[in-house]
Order: sequence, then C-alpha cells, then structure tokens
Amino acid sequence: MKLRLICLYFFICLSSSVFSQDFVSGIVFLDGNSNGTFDAAEKGIKGICVSNGAEVIQTNSDGKWTLPVGNETNLFVVKPANYAVPLNSDKIPQHFFLYKKSDSVASTTSVNFPLVKSEEPKKFSALFFGDTQTRGLKEVNYINHDVVEECIGTNAIFGVSLGDITADGPALFNEINHGIAQIGIPWYNTFGNHDFDREAKNTDEKDATFKRIYGPSTYAFEYGQVVFIDFNNIYFKPDGKYIPHFTDSQISFVKNYLEFVPKNKLVVLIMHAPIVMCDNKEQIFDLISDRKYTFSISGHAHEQLNLFVDKKMGWKGTETHHHLVNATVCGSWWCGLNDELGIPHATMNDGAPNGYSVITFDGANYSVRFKAARRPENYQMNIYLPEEIKISELDTTKILVNVFAGSARSKVEMCIDNFNVWRPLQQVKAIDPEILRMHKLSSLLQKSVDGQSLEDSFGYSMDSPSKSDHMWQTTLPKEIASGTHTVTVKTTDMFGQVFQASRVFRIP
Ligand SMILES: [Zn+2]
Repeated sequence: MKLRLICLYFFICLSSSVFSQDFVSGIVFLDGNSNGTFDAAEKGIKGICVSNGAEVIQTNSDGKWTLPVGNETNLFVVKPANYAVPLNSDKIPQHFFLYKKSDSVASTTSVNFPLVKSEEPKKFSALFFGDTQTRGLKEVNYINHDVVEECIGTNAIFGVSLGDITADGPALFNEINHGIAQIGIPWYNTFGNHDFDREAKNTDEKDATFKRIYGPSTYAFEYGQVVFIDFNNIYFKPDGKYIPHFTDSQISFVKNYLEFVPKNKLVVLIMHAPIVMCDNKEQIFDLISDRKYTFSISGHAHEQLNLFVDKKMGWKGTETHHHLVNATVCGSWWCGLNDELGIPHATMNDGAPNGYSVITFDGANYSVRFKAARRPENYQMNIYLPEEIKISELDTTKILVNVFAGSARSKVEMCIDNFNVWRPLQQVKAIDPEILRMHKLSSLLQKSVDGQSLEDSFGYSMDSPSKSDHMWQTTLPKEIASGTHTVTVKTTDMFGQVFQASRVFRIP
C-alpha cells in the first residue's frame, strides 16, 4: 500500500512536470522582401536547424519548428550556407530570439526566423580577432586605428571576435561594435572571461549583457562547406572564479547538431579559453574525433600557439586535431611604448606583434595567415643576431628567429648572401630578445616626473616575457669573409605558405 502511494506520488510529480513543459513554435522563411516579417506570399524553408541551446531540430516541409523552452531560453536558427540572416546596424547577426516566460507577448507569439538567399563561394576568407580587451574609450580608439581601419575593404566575408571583447566593462560593447562595424562585414562574437556582468550571481546570468547585445553565447552558423560552432566555455563557479568548461547543454547541442552535419564538412569550434584548458574537453573530442575535417580556435593566452592535440591530450582521432591559440588584437593588453601615432606597440609576451588571423576556407580545407597590425602582410618574423660579429666568433654566434605564427610543422631555413645553400634552423623554446629589452624599460615607465606618471604619456609597462614556442636557432657558418653580409631566413608553414625576411650584419 505504502509502495503504491509512493508510486502514485511520483507519477503525479512526473505528470505535472511533463504537462507543464512549455513549447515555442515558429517558421524559418524565405524573406523575399527582406522586411523581417513572414508575409502572406512568403514560404517556409525545409530542413533548417533551429535550437534551444541543447536540442536541435530541422524545420519541416512548411519551414515549421517547435522546441521545448524553460523560463528563459535562447532560441536560434543555424544560418545555413548560401543564406544570410538579418544584421543589426552594428553588423551583428540577428539569428536569435531570447524567450522569457515572464514576457507574455513572447510566450504567445510564434517565433519566425527570416533568411535571404546569399550565394557563398566555396573558397572564402574570414577575420579572427583575439582579445580586443579594452579598458576604456581610449583603447576602443586603439582597436579602430590599429586594426579596423586597415580591414576596411577586406575581401573576408565575415569576422569573429574570440572573447575578452572588453576588460571587465560590458558597457563598452556597443562602442567596440560601432568601430568594428566599420569593416562592413557580418561580425560574430564569443564570450570571454572579461565579458561578464559583475553583479550577476551565477554562471547562467554572467553573460546577460553579452546575450542582450550579441544573442546566445553558444550558437552555430554555416558558410560554404564549413560549420562554425561558437561556445561560451567560461564557467563561473559559486565562488565567482571561472574554469574553462563545457556545460551539459553545450555538449548536447553539439551532439544533436552534428547529427545533421555531413562528414564531408569542416567543423570549426570557436571559443575563448583554449580547448586544452577545458576540464571536460574529452567530451567534445568524443563528438568530433571520428571526423576527418576539424579545427578549433581560441584567444585568451595573448600569445600565438599552434597546438596539435593528440591521444595524450584526450584526442581519439587517427590524426591530430589542430587548435590555434589566436594572436590578440590588444597584444599584451595594449601595453608598451606608444609610437608616433600614440598607439602602443602592444607586442605579445612571446615577441609576436599584436594582430589577427585571416583564415581562408576552401571546401573542407583551411589555411591561416597571421596579420600584424599596421604592418605589411609579409611581416612574419624577426631575425636577431649582433650588428657586428668577430670573424673568430662566427661559429659560436647564435642567430635567433621569431616566426610569429610558426609551429612544430614549420620548416625554417637560412642562407648567407646568395640563395644557393639553405641551412635548417632548430626550433627552441626561448625568450624573444626584443621583448626582454622592452620589458626591462618598464621600471623607467613606472616613474613619475613633476607628479605625472610616465606611463600615462609614454605607454604602459610590459608584462614579464614568456618562453616563446615559435623560435628557431642556429649558428653562423665559419666560412664568411670580412665585410657586410645579409642573412635571409625562409619559412614554410604547415599550409605550404612561404615567407622570407633578411637582416644585414657586419664582420670587421
Ligand atoms: Zn581571457
């Protein structure tokens, strides 16, 4: 009897929870007149993915979809290839609807997502900005002058910010967006650990401002043969500290979405904290390890790093998974001496200049090209050796090269004067000599003159340099005669791209 009562109790609880489930429906439609409204003459589109952040369904033959929702649920359409979603005045894709049960209009209205046809080439480029991380309007201006202006007129078809858009100041989001929108292409955004709302109490609320401005902090979109899944992988614990982590909902979303993604497509995972830092990265790896075409990208480290994730790091695929820790727009947090235009050089702690990536996608393949801010496209390395070398010290004098976007798969060679004999350099972990020199100036910048801090006039002091992952080293050949000579260094990267630079030195 007692058991039957307990069973009845559980049945009632289960029934009430099942029957109290709310659903939202809508239509994904071809917006022929681009007015954002589903008009009588317009038709729904079949087979488009719509999600509530965990579940994913495809629209039926009439373009209709229905999904369960909670009290607050971010609903979004996955922009399919060869279609575009509306953009707001800051070029932010409007692919989402933030459902709130308390909002009576929202709970009764059907949610329709407009799409317009947009032919997309098989081969296209996109811009990836690591941490823009601004501490105020002055630094918003740095973004504009240092990178936005040179990107105007780009042939990239969209751009992505990889999180830490601001430095603990979501109130600056709109100003940053207004600047980046000048590039004139759709711009996607990623949530970073400095983009949170300070007053929010739990991890679900920390991205409230981000969501209001950019939409869901985990979502997906497609261009050509590529699907992009953008994660919020910053999980705030009750004590307010964060860990890089994927939530159960995010894992469900990826699992459910990939059911609809053919294996011949490239899957690109976008996040702020590098994937290898996530405590449960294996759960994401398990969902993509069986795919031939995968790539992931992050920011956060303020250093450039090409990681080849293998079995030791939890990857189960036969070939390694390439993860790029992208260069940051703010470099080393907008530190370093100001140049003649009043913009800090912001060299990163690994000695690479601040900048961004231009990634070219071609079918399911891709290649990455680093672009240093306000520098020529072929500025890809610094060569270090003394200005003057004694002839007796030739074979003990080290030549050190920082190949900014180099990886374990880069080939780096050098030749002296003529291009007949190329000698290989060895990859080493080393501190970039120039970043060390600049760091040593920091103590001077921390002084004040006539009560005014030198940092305010000349630029913020540099952080401690780190051992860079992309340095190469060798010694000079013995058989160089007295005189002025040129060392030329050539690097061939993992994509077959070749870059070259030269440096002149003297043997008395
Ligand atoms: Zn960060």
